[in-house]
Amino acid sequence: MPRSLKTLLFLALAFSLQQCSYSQNSPTDKKTNMDPKKNSVYSRSDSNKVALTNEEWRKILPSDVYQIARQKGTERPWTSKFENFKEIGTYYCAACGNPLFNSDTKFESGCGWPSFYQPISKGSIIYTPDNTLGMERTEVQCGRCKAHLGHVFDDGPPPTGLRYCINGVILDFEKAKEAEKTYKDKKDH
Ligand SMILES: [Zn+2]
Repeated sequence: MPRSLKTLLFLALAFSLQQCSYSQNSPTDKKTNMDPKKNSVYSRSDSNKVALTNEEWRKILPSDVYQIARQKGTERPWTSKFENFKEIGTYYCAACGNPLFNSDTKFESGCGWPSFYQPISKGSIIYTPDNTLGMERTEVQCGRCKAHLGHVFDDGPPPTGLRYCINGVILDFEKAKEAEKTYKDKKDH
């Protein structure tokens, strides 16, 4: 076999192998809006507190998440995909991965933002008085990274009577595995 043909064959083989590995490495997990390589503090199991400067947060959060989490922004009402969302699962802080709410405590408040009557645990949330905009409100922040989440009001349903009014942008949702399985089983039969 001429040497040039051999080289050509080798190159063709190398190229096809490379193509193959490219397709295998293509990102398939788009469940969260976080880039795990970029946001190194994001963890759904690590409960250690996260303390970053706003400058550091700005580098690792998408701009809409940064605006709510660190600048205490408010998303426009009725814009969140979670506002009218009924899947069974867990809501996490989109900035750090801290578990915040279970879907079974979510209710339709009609206020235009995802609403819950109870956080997952006492440590999930930090409460701070907020007297801005001429109102006496209680701000709720993530218990792990202090991201601004929204406010809590006392006009919610039983058993707590509370309404946690939360910006959907700062929520990451994961479907409950067991619930998903049951759903699939039902669909298959
Ligand atoms: Zn957080």
